Amino acid sequence: MVTTTNDTSAIKLILEQVMDPEIPVLSVIDLGVVRNIRSAGNKVTVFITPTYSGCPAMDVIAMNIRMELMAHGYPEPEVIMQLHPAWTTDWMTEKGKTQLKQYGIAPPMLNRHASCTDLFAEESVQCPHCASWHTGRLSEFGSTACKSLYKCDDCLEPFDYFKCH
Ligand SMILES: [Zn+2]
Repeated sequence: MVTTTNDTSAIKLILEQVMDPEIPVLSVIDLGVVRNIRSAGNKVTVFITPTYSGCPAMDVIAMNIRMELMAHGYPEPEVIMQLHPAWTTDWMTEKGKTQLKQYGIAPPMLNRHASCTDLFAEESVQCPHCASWHTGRLSEFGSTACKSLYKCDDCLEPFDYFKCH
């Protein structure tokens, strides 16, 4: 029986086992979509913010969070979508950005004011394979709507870039 009323650190550890269905190396904690955790006894409520409006992965994420919490003995976990404030790539952890790069996806740029003010501007994106800046965008949409497809001019490898928001 859970007696503490504030065991959210234990819940956070459980949520670190829940991976993004599109990027299986990245947990929902490192992705930064978990905004708040509330617990009272064994009743848990998790607030998540979608990375991209209409991103179909969020339904899967919400279901996976509930299943993982139930597997750890929380009988009726609740997942609530919190749409405001909107998710930004700033919420992604440094660990998450590193894992994204190791997975072959260029992590979002830090200078988002320079690169993200115009949605259709060409962004300078570093190749996650060879670290070259000589890259070009092939398509606004990559493997999912959350990513753009880029190609490296040096190593000639295509890669996904996780879009800024
Ligand atoms: Zn390259």
